[in-house]
Amino acid sequence: MSESPSILIIGAGFAGLGLALELRRAGIESFTILEKADDLGGVWRENTYPGAACDVPSPLYSWSFAPKSDWPRRFSQQRDIHSYMRGVAERYRLPEKIRFGTEVTDAEFDERRGVWQVRTGDGTVLTADVLVSAVGQLSRPALPNIPGLDTFAGESFHSAEWNHDVDLTGKRVACIGTGASAIQYIPEIQPVVGHLTLFQRSAAWVLPKWDTVYSPLHHALFKYFPPSRLAERFLIWSTFEFLALALTDVPVIKYPVIALADRHRAKQVPDETLRRKLTPDYAAGCKRGLFSNDYFPALAQPNVTVETTAITEVTPRGIRTADGVEHEADVIIFGTGFKGTEFLAPMNIYGSGGRKLSDEWSPEGARAYLGISVPGFPNLFLMYGPNTNVGAGSIIYMLESQARYIRQAVRHLGSDGRPLSARPEVEQSWDDWLQHRLKNTPWNFCSSWYRNASGRITNNWPGATVLFRWKTRRFAPSDYESPASPPA
Ligand code: NAP
Repeated sequence: MSESPSILIIGAGFAGLGLALELRRAGIESFTILEKADDLGGVWRENTYPGAACDVPSPLYSWSFAPKSDWPRRFSQQRDIHSYMRGVAERYRLPEKIRFGTEVTDAEFDERRGVWQVRTGDGTVLTADVLVSAVGQLSRPALPNIPGLDTFAGESFHSAEWNHDVDLTGKRVACIGTGASAIQYIPEIQPVVGHLTLFQRSAAWVLPKWDTVYSPLHHALFKYFPPSRLAERFLIWSTFEFLALALTDVPVIKYPVIALADRHRAKQVPDETLRRKLTPDYAAGCKRGLFSNDYFPALAQPNVTVETTAITEVTPRGIRTADGVEHEADVIIFGTGFKGTEFLAPMNIYGSGGRKLSDEWSPEGARAYLGISVPGFPNLFLMYGPNTNVGAGSIIYMLESQARYIRQAVRHLGSDGRPLSARPEVEQSWDDWLQHRLKNTPWNFCSSWYRNASGRITNNWPGATVLFRWKTRRFAPSDYESPASPPA
């Protein structure tokens, strides 16, 4: 291996770009990003539904080394985030490092040569010393398993594949799902549709959104007096760390948060029948807590029905519920989330001895040392891997921790030369620690995309983000081993 190992990064979203920026800023140039689409941005390229925005304020939901003084508002819209990503990538000349329109289908570790062979959709095989998956957890839309889905005669689409050609004006629109996506587009479409029926299986825990439009004065202050910008970032970060502790180490914090959510609902939904429907019946924090000031008011409008009877089938004319009622609709919108627990799918990844990653993780679910390294898969690093999603906080902060760790690993590989994978016993004790912490979180008490069919919480990080930064602060070669050479 040369002093600067060759690196293939799969995905040009916040994870892949973030790692590329980390490497480039450290003077490491031997990387290429493979991106299946024709543009960078990941989920911020894909999700263009009306009202798409980030529910983490931008001063925190941005790269620490690339602050932006002129965000239009605290909680930015998708187009502003996407253009921020593009702007920073261009400033660091990253587009020249991205192979667009290149989808990875398979990757195999060649034990004899100690390199990864990566196959792309058009059959090309690329070789690299190091492979990094940065494909995210939320890039594959999930449609519900409802009978008759294909029989619907009107238009239907998933929130992440919004069909902007469909004019919703005056239409009867059926919305399925009440997650972070739905809560953003429902208030946007409600004023234009004829009637909106929201099919709610679980009510959301909703907190007030502390949004603000940043004035020219804010922009000037942030630009010419950087401590003000840092103070804003620190305040937001501390608030989210506080909320993260409510989910893990200091559960007593949840009581004032629950009281705030209850008050918000009581204030915004005066009608008692509707309020009862919109009151969650599961532990706060079990599903992602949401921030919105316009979701409840939209649901209280006369052209909206909140339907809580379970869906039994989709018919050519609409949706039938368990009480036998057929709710006619012109359009169905699925805000039904993503296949978040199927890490790295649909790629086929083969490590030492031809072992397949999806088999290694079956049936229990994905796991990795620090969410980054899998025993038996040398020189494979995961970004936004198992148990690195945050229940509260900025994923960019988490991704920066991973990028720093991988940059150190790459440096070590360059000087040592031998491929490395996490020691099984190190990964096992990491997982024991993780499972112990996860046992006491609210994520155990409902179903969500954080948990897979076996009941394992595969997605979330149990703690404050600063704890993850601490755990990943140093790449320790002693946590790793070299694969035994295959027989000649
Ligand atoms: P989601 O949170 O997984 O929500 C999916 C919704 O679909 C849930 O309400 C679920 O109900 C419902 N559903 C699924 N199958 C159903 C069925 N057969 N019948 C009725 N309802 C059904 O998906 P999402 O809203 O797209 O959000 C996914 C994640 O994306 C978020 O948690 C967040 O991490 C990320 N996101 C972030 C932002 C942001 O602002 N940063 C914005 C959007 C999304 P149950 O709850 O009962 O299962």
